[in-house]
Amino acid sequence: MDYAIEVNNIVKKYKDVVALKGVTFNVKRGEIFGILGPNGAGKTTLISILTTILKPTSGTAKVNGYDIIKEQQKVRESIGIVFQDPSLDNRLTVKENLYIGASLYNVPKNKREEKINELLEFFELKEVENKLVRYLSGGMKRKVEIARSLLSDPKVLFLDEPTTGLDPDIRYNLWNYIKNMVKEYDVTVFIATHYMEEAEELCNRVAIIDKGEIKVIGEPEELKKSLEGDIVMIKTKDNIDIKSDYIRDIKKVEEGYVITVKDSERFLGELFEYVKNKNIKIDSVSIRKPTLGEVFLYYTGKELR
Ligand code: ATP
Repeated sequence: MDYAIEVNNIVKKYKDVVALKGVTFNVKRGEIFGILGPNGAGKTTLISILTTILKPTSGTAKVNGYDIIKEQQKVRESIGIVFQDPSLDNRLTVKENLYIGASLYNVPKNKREEKINELLEFFELKEVENKLVRYLSGGMKRKVEIARSLLSDPKVLFLDEPTTGLDPDIRYNLWNYIKNMVKEYDVTVFIATHYMEEAEELCNRVAIIDKGEIKVIGEPEELKKSLEGDIVMIKTKDNIDIKSDYIRDIKKVEEGYVITVKDSERFLGELFEYVKNKNIKIDSVSIRKPTLGEVFLYYTGKELR
């Protein structure tokens, strides 16, 4: 298999903090691959290593077939990055920012205008091309940054938390551009996110990372199925302390209990028996399929907020 990114046992230590504890995975060409985890999980560190900004303490990785330590220049020439913190010049217009990007990326002079116009059209930014960046909305600024990262025709694009701070509808809109971009520009996307919906809606595959360790990797649907069960939500004011082999996880919430079970039918049988014997008053019981949030909870033992 021809991989866009191959990561082999990467460890990164900052003095006594171990930010990555031996991370291994591959990203296929043309994929949108998400790394999902809370703040401090090690996502930015991983992106910094894969984009040659930081050196790993140990381990190896290849991006576009180039070694991130021995072939840094080749790696850099074949990637694009959008950093977590905005990096556009607010005092310049959209087009001026793109021109600076084109000269930084060594886009041939006679191709710059054409390339910039093409990207402005693709991201529907033509109308604001002469506006100062400082007057753009957050979503538009993000589009300009992504457009700029595509100027060098990267094969792999790294996006570090690209929709943080944006309104949900604008976030959704940006996902559509990213999905279309993969097809139009034949690029592989590596995206760090702490948004569950972003991982679920946008990514073909997701790696769940927590405290520097990858807990599980798979397609969002596959990960949800891997829980092999259902979520039973019980609304009650009473205390429930049921023991059952079918329970994978039980959590007390404000209105009652959220229980992850292997076989909801059999579990419900046990539950009703228990409730009858203990004289517990139940307001309602509902069953649903697990979300990626429950997958996260299952593999990391905590909720991602
Ligand atoms: P965020 O979304 O908040 O950036 P993250 O998942 O990207 O989170 P990292 O920024 O990679 O996580 O941080 C991973 C761990 O390494 C954290 O414990 C962080 O405090 C630590 N860390 C990151 N950079 C440094 C540094 N330069 N020196 C010391 N510790 C660091």
